[in-house]
Amino acid sequence: MKLALIATPYTHPTCPPLGPAVLSAYLQKNLSAADVSVFDLSLDYYLSAFAAIDEGSLNIKLKEMDEQTSAHNLNQAVSFLKTWQPAHSDLKEYHHWATIFLRFENIFNAFMASMAEKALTGQSIPKRIERFFEELIQPVLAGTPDLVGFSILYQHQVVFAALLAKMIKRHSTAKIIAGGACISVMSEPEKLLSTPLAKIDNDAPDILLKDFFDYLLPGEGELGLHHLCQTKSPSDLATVPNLIYFSNNDLHINPPATPKIEDLPHPDFSHFKLDKYLTPEPVLPLMTSRGCPWAKCTFCTHHHSSLRYRTRRIDDCVAEISFLQKQYDCNLFYFYDEMIPAPRFKKLAEHIIDAGLTVNYGAYAKPLKTFSAELCHLLQRSGCRILQWGVESGSQRILDLMGKGTDIQEVEKVLSNASKAGIYNLTFVLFGFPSETTEELQQTLTFLDRNRTNIHALSSGTFVLTEGSQIHREPENFSISRIWKHNNSSILYPALDFDINQGMTAQEVTQHFNKNQTFFSDISLSRRFGTYREHLLIYESK
Ligand code: SF4
Repeated sequence: MKLALIATPYTHPTCPPLGPAVLSAYLQKNLSAADVSVFDLSLDYYLSAFAAIDEGSLNIKLKEMDEQTSAHNLNQAVSFLKTWQPAHSDLKEYHHWATIFLRFENIFNAFMASMAEKALTGQSIPKRIERFFEELIQPVLAGTPDLVGFSILYQHQVVFAALLAKMIKRHSTAKIIAGGACISVMSEPEKLLSTPLAKIDNDAPDILLKDFFDYLLPGEGELGLHHLCQTKSPSDLATVPNLIYFSNNDLHINPPATPKIEDLPHPDFSHFKLDKYLTPEPVLPLMTSRGCPWAKCTFCTHHHSSLRYRTRRIDDCVAEISFLQKQYDCNLFYFYDEMIPAPRFKKLAEHIIDAGLTVNYGAYAKPLKTFSAELCHLLQRSGCRILQWGVESGSQRILDLMGKGTDIQEVEKVLSNASKAGIYNLTFVLFGFPSETTEELQQTLTFLDRNRTNIHALSSGTFVLTEGSQIHREPENFSISRIWKHNNSSILYPALDFDINQGMTAQEVTQHFNKNQTFFSDISLSRRFGTYREHLLIYESK
């Protein structure tokens, strides 16, 4: 069985993808007959774009620049981000080039997503764009895979995965499977296969994603892919854990199963072009646990029952860091755990120190008083340089409604503890939670202002109602009187609207949010660090 695993366009090209790196290692370890290749088509998508823009075959206009100047500036930005030496350069310079790059990403990605949607629904797109997508899949086709797996982390990647799957099917009989975090958090992933896409011609037959994806694999993919690679006949599909598929127009949803956490091997990044990512040195992702130990936030969908919280052995995690450091000459890491609770973090830090590892790293954590001054110092000594905190709001009432389980005064103390210990804080905040008042929004702004010296990077956004979250299931408990599908909602871009019977309207929230953009920029060292978190780690580790 030849399997091709694909990281789907697009995610920021600043580090390789973790999911395919673990999956490929798992299959290679457990299935001697498996021939697995891995492609970061997200990185290739960016590299192809840079080359095409440079040679003038793909024209992009960045704000207030003509096409030639845009191409020149993009070139400069890419080159700067790859060679940046924080110790010898001004943060303003970083901010300038990272902003150019972000503008490019926003414009280019929106354009390519619209092209992908058109091509997917049978509309014509310029030949050069069609060629662009066709060329992306050539390395995959060259390996003549029997099975192609798309790893999809975010909703905006679905359209790209579907189009690339459609193109692969034109040239190959390979079966196609889609999985990853995006599919895993959907409340009814099967709808992705069976809901028609919007059509231009009403008389044309329905276009369904099941025409391009043979299977979906929500949840953790290791066992499902392992079993799928061993199937001999269609009747064997019933034994593949987590698999969703149609057979003779009947929908099948197989029972879930999760791998033993201790069976997970160290990720294999050897398939990736580590020197091509937009960082001056590699930053590798890793995980010490799966699932969320808290699993109570009312806006979150990351805690379906199939994503049970399990932890890896600390000594194995430390062995993994050591292995990755030697194997890839890498000293910078990001833990992608949903969060690492304080007692576990303490053990991890002690083991890293005991092992004599000299690495720097970032991680998600929950701002509870357990992150004492002592613990923060220990974390710093072990190489922790960035902590990413889901602060969300400066209003205790909103925090309680969110089910965060945090105390706003403790949060303040924790940010101070980390900052004093020499750790940078990346803070997430959310505006417009249902029923939030203008005064409560102001409390968040005041919180940010009061703690600005302890907030080094900020990621701010407005509330989005997600299907499957507790708020969606129990709207009446969150002052929501009505929920409906947004006018532009589709299976590719699902969007919900809602009416509230107290608090700010969505328009008021947007107004406040837009009005405070300059304030948000002033809070952080560079606003771009909220987006390009690997760069924040590189900057702090200088
Ligand atoms: S938002 Fe809350 S429930 Fe969701 S992953 Fe984070 S801590 Fe867990």
